[in-house]
Amino acid sequence: MEERIIKLEMNVPKTFPPVKPLGYKDKKRILVSGGAGFVGSHLVDRLMMDGHSVTVVDNFFTGSRKNIEQWIGHENFEIINHDIINPLFIEVDQIYHLASPASPPHYMLNPIKTLKTNILGTINMLGLAKRVKARFLISSTSELYGDPEIHPQSEDYWGNVNPIGPRACYDEGKRAAEAICYAYVRKENIEVRVARIFNTYGPRMHINDGRVVSNFIIQAIENLPITIYGSGKQTRSFQYVSDLVEGLVALMNGNYSLPVNLGNPDEYTIEKFATLIKEFVGSSSPIVFKEGLEDDPKQRKPDITRAKNYLNWSPKVSLQDGLQKTVNYFKKEIQMSKTGLRS
Ligand code: NAD
Ligand code: UDP
Ligand code: UDP
Repeated sequence: MEERIIKLEMNVPKTFPPVKPLGYKDKKRILVSGGAGFVGSHLVDRLMMDGHSVTVVDNFFTGSRKNIEQWIGHENFEIINHDIINPLFIEVDQIYHLASPASPPHYMLNPIKTLKTNILGTINMLGLAKRVKARFLISSTSELYGDPEIHPQSEDYWGNVNPIGPRACYDEGKRAAEAICYAYVRKENIEVRVARIFNTYGPRMHINDGRVVSNFIIQAIENLPITIYGSGKQTRSFQYVSDLVEGLVALMNGNYSLPVNLGNPDEYTIEKFATLIKEFVGSSSPIVFKEGLEDDPKQRKPDITRAKNYLNWSPKVSLQDGLQKTVNYFKKEIQMSKTGLRS
């Protein structure tokens, strides 16, 4: 019986999401490192639907094939299972360099590997950009501002990072990655774009991601305690993933070459956010306070004047709409993991 179903499935031609026809001159060969991850896979959807040829390079540390399964078999799509700390030789026109763990529990798991990915990996991706003369965009982060002393954070703030703390592997890795980018600009004339991304959420966040949005939503759906680390007075500003993708594409294709913040300036205390999620899901979860994390930034909110002025970009999706899509996603994922359809 099982064998028959597999055979039937193999005979049904796969239908792909609609793809714009692009002329030879407009169609680009685009590399997305980290394209099997949360943000990367949404970017891949956008670039594929725009009609480009997309190659995903990923070592599947936190990414997953299911995030990009909708494109597997499409003639414009390719996946390379590769760790970017090793050199990569392919031919492309643009590089979106996103490969790096992003959630604190993931990047702290192996801090040496996080540093290697951000430093050696970025050098390799820039070496590739240099050889093939590709434009290069890096996904940097608001973590570059550390525990910020100015609020909101604008791009000319140099940050307040503890260089030897538990978050340093990521924060300093990304700071080094930005320094490497501008060294390649000065020495090799590479066309570089730097996106400083603030907290982003949406469907396809890993179920064990450990970041606040996924943790709180899963805890609320399961009626488990919602865990606030520390006082809950620390703040974050949450951006929906489709807004980020719009910003990344605008940045890549625009003329602005200094760093640009991409984030939603709507700021919440973590305590307020916990209550909001609990009410949104209609959950009976208790809200509990756990020990605070070392070096946890106390406040974070992007100044997006640069993105508005140079990219004509600002976030469009309300927290209400973004949360609805994300909660629906996690409800399905939890259901599937319970019925054994997803591991
Ligand atoms: P994610 O963990 O879902 O995606 C990262 C992807 O990179 C995964 O597919 C992972 O397997 C891959 N990867 C990691 N190390 C690799 C290596 N050595 N070689 C090849 N592939 C590797 O995280 P995300 O949230 O999608 O983040 C994507 C990028 O955006 C990261 O660079 C992150 O620093 C940046 N960023 C994200 C946020 C956010 O809130 N999501 C905020 C700031 C910056
Ligand atoms: N590199 C790569 N793919 C390429 C070209 C270079 O992965 O297509 C790697 C290369 O192996 C090197 C790094 O990128 O380790 C930096 O390359 P660059 O040419 O800037 O430096 P060099 O090779 O001169 O040290
Ligand atoms: N946080 C929390 N409970 C959780 C996960 C995170 O209170 O279950 C807090 C965390 O301490 C931080 C904020 O939520 O103050 C955002 O954490 P996240 O890991 O999502 O991202 P960060 O902005 O710290 O990289």
